[in-house]
Amino acid sequence: MIKIKTPAEIEAMKPAGALSKMALRKAGTLVVPGTHTIDIDRVVESLIRIHGATPAFKGYLGFPASICCSINNEIVHGIPGEGVILKEGDIVSIDTGATLNGWVGDNAWTFFCGKPSLEDKALCEVTRDCLSLGIQQAVPGNHLGDIGFAIQEHAEKNGYGVVREYVGHGVGHVMHEEPNVPNYGKKSRGVRLQEGMVLAIEPMIVLKSPKNETQTNRWTVVTVDGGTAAHYENTIAITKDGPVILTEDEKGPTCPMEGGPDKANLIPQI
Ligand code: MG
Repeated sequence: MIKIKTPAEIEAMKPAGALSKMALRKAGTLVVPGTHTIDIDRVVESLIRIHGATPAFKGYLGFPASICCSINNEIVHGIPGEGVILKEGDIVSIDTGATLNGWVGDNAWTFFCGKPSLEDKALCEVTRDCLSLGIQQAVPGNHLGDIGFAIQEHAEKNGYGVVREYVGHGVGHVMHEEPNVPNYGKKSRGVRLQEGMVLAIEPMIVLKSPKNETQTNRWTVVTVDGGTAAHYENTIAITKDGPVILTEDEKGPTCPMEGGPDKANLIPQI
């Protein structure tokens, strides 16, 4: 059953969304060559807990960390680790979620570690645009298929593959509610969208074949052909005025594509 949220409940979900985005933005500043991904996990967990929230992923079905960190050919559910060290040219997909005041926020972003290859940069930009196009379809009266269609069409017209086995989802008091939100579909098909639905829209787009497998750690999903993968996600509410992005902090609903320190916060050199 799809749980419809009242305008007051949607308002109440915003702090969890803002904190999830703040955590993701912070994670991005640590995406530089030499970082152990476990350190990103530690920083994100502290940031979430210091705000009185809990990391939504830690312990979820036994997941061992507060972030998912998926590098290059890893599509989703990568596990951060002590010996997992970022290197120049990696693309790093980080997923953060926070539960605050009983509500969940869920978002993800693929960051460049140093300078990406031109083909990885293009993949990321197209995937980010897939997310925007999908969100634009999240209006009352449209169907779930309109979201999937917009994402799939933009990805495939650029020559990329769409992962089918992992999809977006409803969000509420728990991270995964109904409905599933596939990144593929047909116009005007599927559940009719209505005011009060809250969805995590999260295209997972790959450079080559979308065929994937899960590694022996039971979590990390990788492309079978080794091609790189990108993943962007926001939690949105469908309202009569259109989609409202809940995973938005004071800097907005998106992160910089480049990992590393936020240049706006650096002291200018004299
Ligand atoms: Mg999600």
